[in-house]
Amino acid sequence: MGFADLHIHSMYSYDGTASISAILKYATDFTRLNVLAITDHDSMQGVPEALDLAPKYNLEVIPGCEISSIDGHVLALFIDRPISAGLSLFETVMRVGERGGLCIAAHPMAKGVDSLSFEMIRSVLHHPEAAKILVGVEAFNGGLVYTRRNQAVADECQQLPMSHVGNSDAHILPMIGEGSSLFIGHSALDLRRALENYSTIPLQGKGLSGTSVLISYIPRFVLRKLGWVSWNASPDKKLGYARLSHILSEGSLPQFSQS
Ligand SMILES: [Zn+2]
Ligand SMILES: [Zn+2]
Repeated sequence: MGFADLHIHSMYSYDGTASISAILKYATDFTRLNVLAITDHDSMQGVPEALDLAPKYNLEVIPGCEISSIDGHVLALFIDRPISAGLSLFETVMRVGERGGLCIAAHPMAKGVDSLSFEMIRSVLHHPEAAKILVGVEAFNGGLVYTRRNQAVADECQQLPMSHVGNSDAHILPMIGEGSSLFIGHSALDLRRALENYSTIPLQGKGLSGTSVLISYIPRFVLRKLGWVSWNASPDKKLGYARLSHILSEGSLPQFSQS
């Protein structure tokens, strides 16, 4: 069996606090994840680096992003470039399908963020072609303080003919793996098959309290605003911090990965 966290934000999200290398280092050292997806807000800027570095950290990365549809946030996975924001959910899903990808409804009904309603998800599932693409729904989202223990959302998800997914929606390293999905196999391809078969099993992580999430997030968010993010020089080095401007000026790949 494998474990996947398919909703992780990096420094390429305005509210993300970690570099790609730091996310991979944390995932490999402190979680049991085999597969992860970097899903920044309407951006795939970090994906090439993630795909390049993942084997060094013994992980597999699925290219993706979190798209801001007018109906709410939706994860697009297995795509090679982002889909435009601001389209309807149906249009977004169909465009993801044209690019060979799959969609997961992110944090349905969550308060405080643009979230899909169950009515909207059901209306798209009525289209047979769209239903083959919008295959998953987050039955558990570890990142949202107000919704991650929402049993009503999980119960509602159980009524939907979709794969039930657990994701972290991590914006800081300690949240990675706080939600995950169990699937048969270990690879990204196995995970894709599990999503299409509706066989993923959502899992909660350590169950960090909302307070501890906020306590972890606030200083990292302040550091991010000051221009510093979590960073890792190479898999054999410890996690640390680096200047965002320095990482960006190095280009998409840090020096150590050029060999
Ligand atoms: Zn979201
Ligand atoms: Zn998110």
